[in-house]
Amino acid sequence: MDNKRRQFITSLIQASAAAAAGGTIVGAFVEENKNKPLTLRPPGALKEEDFLKTCIRCGLCVEACKNRENKVIIDGNEIITLKLGAPGDNVAIGTPYFIARTGPCFMCDDIPCMYACPTGALTPDMCKNDKGEVAIDYAKMGVAVIDPSSCIAFWGLQCTACYRACPEMDKAITIEWKKNERTGKHAYRIPVVHEDACTGCGMCEMACVTEKAAIKVFPRDVFLGKAGDRYVKGWDKKDQQRVKNASTKTTTETGRSKLSPIQNLNQGVTWDQ
Ligand code: SF4
Ligand code: SF4
Repeated sequence: MDNKRRQFITSLIQASAAAAAGGTIVGAFVEENKNKPLTLRPPGALKEEDFLKTCIRCGLCVEACKNRENKVIIDGNEIITLKLGAPGDNVAIGTPYFIARTGPCFMCDDIPCMYACPTGALTPDMCKNDKGEVAIDYAKMGVAVIDPSSCIAFWGLQCTACYRACPEMDKAITIEWKKNERTGKHAYRIPVVHEDACTGCGMCEMACVTEKAAIKVFPRDVFLGKAGDRYVKGWDKKDQQRVKNASTKTTTETGRSKLSPIQNLNQGVTWDQ
């Protein structure tokens, strides 16, 4: 094989390898930019789908978080809450997120991250109470969920670490006392999360003493269910307002709807001759 031909074949192989690598990188980029349902966003974030469309990945919120006034130092290390998604983080690349176990949100009163956002991906509109008042206490970054099988309070051991760490103590987490039937002496002190007051800051998850946190924060859309308009808390005026305009004419049409109740009950039944 002459030199020119060898060079041509070599460059062909290199080009194919580069194309394949390029494809892999592009594929990985597309994969990394898909919505990752377990990502925790900063306070004031829009709903995840809208957030991904609105966030321009400028990093100003992360910068503001890094420069916040209420720096928290643990074991000599400053804890920085917000990070920008990088390849391998399993978060849409360039978008802000936090990991509650190692860097929860410290709920700064002035919410610098939110006000630094130039696009409205983080907005005071998502940090409001019913009266329209804006405060970090109304943030909905996620919701804490307890695994009773690994929370040692459910074993009867005294803990309350999550309760004491909660910035919304006695609102977002309360302690329920229960008799310990096993010992007949000591009381259980069970942590209970109240989703309406939980901001999802993750302070509880960081404070949890078990090897792997027994209380974890999940995005609200992932964890919370929805009862829908068919069910209402008759004792709760606010809940009655929620279903005020609900339709009372909901019908469900299936193949069985065409049958009479008797036909329906007897469908598939075989009778002895
Ligand atoms: S409110 Fe939370 S995420 Fe925002 S700057 Fe403070 S610590 Fe960081
Ligand atoms: S400041 Fe707003 S637009 Fe910029 S990265 Fe943060 S959320 Fe996205």
